[in-house]
Amino acid sequence: MPAGDPTSIDELLAAALAAQANAHVPYSKYPVGAAVRAGSGRVYAGCNVENAAYPQGWCAETSAIAAMVSAGERELVEILTVANGDGLATSCGGCRQKIREFAAPDALIHAAGPEGVRRTFTLDELLPHSFGPEQLGV
Ligand code: ZN
Repeated sequence: MPAGDPTSIDELLAAALAAQANAHVPYSKYPVGAAVRAGSGRVYAGCNVENAAYPQGWCAETSAIAAMVSAGERELVEILTVANGDGLATSCGGCRQKIREFAAPDALIHAAGPEGVRRTFTLDELLPHSFGPEQLGV
């Protein structure tokens, strides 16, 4: 299924919403869900997980990427994040770099609300002139 296909986006949104429902956010009350489509076509989802020691918490994208890597996959084709509210919940800088580790510059990053995708970016748009595995000869 090609990245950005409406059916693909629906599947990503459903997985991200299911993960968002399990977010551990007692402090921010800002649940986020994320779903990645890996090179195999499989979808891996995750949520943000906060911690009473605030810096120890992590983002939904991190959880989803960890699930993908834990399953043995190393290629991220597209990712969707979903959050509540009116704003555009784009990935934080740290997550953009984590996506960069496994994605091509033209990988699609969808920022969604509960109703659906609000805006789609490429990785290169969100993290231009980025540092990645090639700089280390990998
Ligand atoms: Zn993040």
